Amino acid sequence: MKTDVDVVVVGAGFAGIYATHLLRNKNGLSVQGFEKGSGVGGTWFWNRYPGARCDAESIVYSYSFDDEIQQEWTWSERWATQPEILNYANFVADKLGVRESYAFNTEVTSIEWDDAAGLWTTTTAEGRSTTSRFVITAVGCLSAAQMPQFEGLQDFQGELYHTGSWPHEGVDFAGKKVAVIGTGSSGIQAIPVIAQQADQVTIFQRTPNYTVPARNRTLGVDEMALVKAVYPTLREKLKQTPAGVMVKPPIGSALKLPAEEIRAELDSRWAQGGPTFMNAFTDTMSDRQANEITAEYVREKIAEIVKDPERAELITPKSYPVGTKRICVDTDYYETYNRPNVELVDVREHRIERIGAKGPVVNGQEYECDILVMATGYDAITGPLLRLGIKGREGLPLKEAWDEGGKSYLGLSVAGFPNLFTVTGPGSPSVLTNMIPSIEQHVEWISTLLSDLEERGIERIEASAEAQEEWVAKVNAIAAQTLYPEAASWYMGSNIPGKPRVFMPYAGGLHTYRQLCDEIAAAGYTGFTLGEDAESSAAKPLVGVATA
Ligand code: NAP
Repeated sequence: MKTDVDVVVVGAGFAGIYATHLLRNKNGLSVQGFEKGSGVGGTWFWNRYPGARCDAESIVYSYSFDDEIQQEWTWSERWATQPEILNYANFVADKLGVRESYAFNTEVTSIEWDDAAGLWTTTTAEGRSTTSRFVITAVGCLSAAQMPQFEGLQDFQGELYHTGSWPHEGVDFAGKKVAVIGTGSSGIQAIPVIAQQADQVTIFQRTPNYTVPARNRTLGVDEMALVKAVYPTLREKLKQTPAGVMVKPPIGSALKLPAEEIRAELDSRWAQGGPTFMNAFTDTMSDRQANEITAEYVREKIAEIVKDPERAELITPKSYPVGTKRICVDTDYYETYNRPNVELVDVREHRIERIGAKGPVVNGQEYECDILVMATGYDAITGPLLRLGIKGREGLPLKEAWDEGGKSYLGLSVAGFPNLFTVTGPGSPSVLTNMIPSIEQHVEWISTLLSDLEERGIERIEASAEAQEEWVAKVNAIAAQTLYPEAASWYMGSNIPGKPRVFMPYAGGLHTYRQLCDEIAAAGYTGFTLGEDAESSAAKPLVGVATA
């Protein structure tokens, strides 16, 4: 069956840019990309809030597939700012010439499979339809912003912003009263910067968070030159790591080491800055008692930094193990609570009742503000995919297939949805790793798969329901060996009312996962049905397949 293009790619973030490049230039396929924003960059296009930075170090939060790119680009800070990362995405997109394959300012509203014809039809908000043999979703894990449905929100008279959809022209906080709801990574990065600019900041905290200092610094030209000289070997080494980042290895079990060694290690990592703090010991993420040692260290730091003991107590996390909600990385977050223009409203017991015309209302009191910032997070991992209106075989909506949570084989492919690939989808390492190496691994695997199919004259591939079930069980079993399920986190879907509580990412490490994916490919794509078999599986009823 003739289609408009071979492949539709949805999203022009780091995944979309690379997928478009590789499929066009290596596989020789025709690609149509769609992107809701007016430019490339994905997360970094939308998240323009003050203080936005990456929490993976810049030198590794970058593509490794092209040495010319990594030699030409120079990072200026240890943790790159949002504008610098967005410049980088633009630099790469221009260099690879991928922009011409995209329709920007174009929202995809449905992607539907025609089983008889063996093609996907992607439709946009303007009503444009494009048929393709394959669809690749490159929509990111944290792109479906979660705006809580507070009563009265529509009648708020001030300015309202969500960190994940920040105005391009910026926001002027000078002389303003600002309310911030949310103290996750976004709030923790934005609050110190807003507090420096605004007259008054009122923070509405439901759950206190653990955060470690970033210790940001500029990267010297000489330092970057040294990194560039070793980039090829460094990238190869990173492929053998669980998270695709450079971390100092753990020094042993927190339950077995002497107290002074534990203290010295945590002191050293706290001074070094960044999330490697969490890697001090082998058992921090698997044993509650071991975890408590690192958690208690952070609590002591809060007590040291925050001068008002009552306030320190309020912002001290106690109800969940450190690291089970993603560890935050900050610059002067806890210190900001010493500022005279910062007020804290604890909304654990008394929730935000509604948003009044002048500001949030808690326990009958309206907190007046000129600007209300929602740092309230995302419908993570599955949310961006569910918003695409995907329908697979027999017209099955992805939403129905996932009514018990995001089920997928390898986080790459969903039973009942042939020829559709989800870059960093649920059940893949994704958010537990440096996203760019994970993106590269997925895109390269898909590219190899498509050329293998081409070579073998196979037109259709689909994850088998059995392989998907086994994979979901494996992902759950690995998560169960960790403390992750103990927190009500976005990893678990707990931040979205009504969302099934399932730990979504694969916690077995990117290195292990990469090896598994390679073995599956080498064995002829075990767990997938190919060609004729996939077509005959089309005859099987979907009941008990997608929802199994
Ligand atoms: P988040 O971690 O989900 O935090 C959302 C915050 O909003 C939480 O404090 C949450 O409280 C609060 N909240 C949500 N609904 C609320 C309500 N109805 N009333 C009161 N409080 C409410 O979201 P995020 O901060 O945007 O971060 C999400 C992820 O994005 C991060 O974990 C990270 O992976 C990524 N990110 C990374 C960076 C970086 O690279 N440095 C920066 C920003 C984001 P509860 O905890 O009680 O639910």
